[in-house]
Amino acid sequence: MKDLLKDPTLLRTQAYINGEWVDADSGETFPVRNPATQEVLAEVASVGGAETRRAIEAAEVAQKAWAARTAMERSAILRKWNDLILENVEDLAIIMTLEQGKVLAESRGEIVYAASFIEWFAEEGKRVYGDVFPLPQSTSRGVAIRQPVGVVAAVTPWNFPSAMLTRKCGPALAVGCAMVAKPAHETPLSMLALAELADRAGLPAGLLSIVPGAHAKPIGDEMCSNPIVRKFTFTGSTRIGKMLAAQCTETMKRTSMELGGNAPVIVFDDADLDKAAVGAAASKYRNSGQTCICANRILVQEGVYDEFVEKLKGVVGTFKIGDGMDESSTHGPVITRKALEDIKEMVDDAVAHGAEIAAGGDFGAEGEQFIQPTILCNVTDDMRVFKEEIFGPVAPIFKFKTEEEAIAMANDTEFGLAAYLFTRDQGRSWRVSEGIEYGMVGVNEVLISSTFIPFGGIKESGQGREGSSYGVDDYLEMKYICFGDLGA
Ligand code: ADP
Repeated sequence: MKDLLKDPTLLRTQAYINGEWVDADSGETFPVRNPATQEVLAEVASVGGAETRRAIEAAEVAQKAWAARTAMERSAILRKWNDLILENVEDLAIIMTLEQGKVLAESRGEIVYAASFIEWFAEEGKRVYGDVFPLPQSTSRGVAIRQPVGVVAAVTPWNFPSAMLTRKCGPALAVGCAMVAKPAHETPLSMLALAELADRAGLPAGLLSIVPGAHAKPIGDEMCSNPIVRKFTFTGSTRIGKMLAAQCTETMKRTSMELGGNAPVIVFDDADLDKAAVGAAASKYRNSGQTCICANRILVQEGVYDEFVEKLKGVVGTFKIGDGMDESSTHGPVITRKALEDIKEMVDDAVAHGAEIAAGGDFGAEGEQFIQPTILCNVTDDMRVFKEEIFGPVAPIFKFKTEEEAIAMANDTEFGLAAYLFTRDQGRSWRVSEGIEYGMVGVNEVLISSTFIPFGGIKESGQGREGSSYGVDDYLEMKYICFGDLGA
């Protein structure tokens, strides 16, 4: 793997704790595999609770000095980090494609996207304002200031191994917090490479520690129980997120949770169907269907159902499934063999209940972890594909009659992250956007995610917002100060 990189020293396989690259106390390591070939790319240090505790204790010391610096000083270091990430896009993209599987073009896009959070929050950190309150007493004045929460622990998933770190540590570091972060064991190399660049940018020791591990529980237990940690931020599955949020209540930590989704794409009969088909395919199959805002259920009005399916088949027919390192591939493998089997089970369940495979349906033909982009028709709301997050390149296409029915179907889920609709009717675009219970809605647009917007969900998709000027709020506490006895 090293020979593919211009700068092989970006390939880090130890944990990064208090500014030092270290092995696990036990000496244990775990393998990182290429999902396209199953080849072992590297052995990475597998740390546990004790190393995590040391990282948290170091963060506590480093955070106090960091918070005492000016926002301008913090910003200068973060901007340097941003620049270094952008100077190394190609190497970072190669590392990501090798461990995560997404095609190189998507990896390059994610690295630029990841850097944009550092750049954005380096600026937002300068704009942490307070407030002044009129009081009932003429001799007092009341103000509120906002201060960093302190030490933050973060756990991130494998689908966006770089951006899910920077979206959290960008605002945290910019406002004066310190962070201890755990990457997913499938994709630790991307996060470790970013830490190497943070180190080169001059980020002081202890402010950002990375604790990779084959066993998530001891690391998570320490993060969620240690009283030094004042905030826990998580991106991952709803099941694990709920469990960790519950663990955090013991020490009353603040939490931000970015959890699962079950995004509907609603296609009305007045929509531009060509654009709807291209949009639905882009949303569904990006990162091989492995994003939390991926289209999960495509709801199409009955009069245009058949035409839409034909158009979607046309778009999917242009895809080329293959190793992400091959520039001609448009879509890569899924993350693990287990993931492929879980997705296949959902397709089998749908077919057993009467669904029809209109395209794809081939699991494992191009290689152990490759799935042909699949379209399912004749699907109904009693099938698993209606209720569960598929997290793979499978598009079930449901039929609806009226606007009211579409809204009811869209809301018939415990999730509430992203939703999309295609219509050319202005009134309908407002009515439906306001009527569906989601944190984010795309109208005639599926590429809704960026640094500029408040990303996050409602219901069991989580709480908190990442990105935009609101993205700093989760890392700040408000303190009220009353100045009394000021004279008449
Ligand atoms: P996915 O199904 O996408 O892998 P998970 O919620 O299982 O979603 O994983 C998201 C992140 O949560 C990963 O970094 C994983 O290692 C981590 N994780 C899983 N279980 C725990 C746990 N008990 N404590 C802390 N982190 C955990």
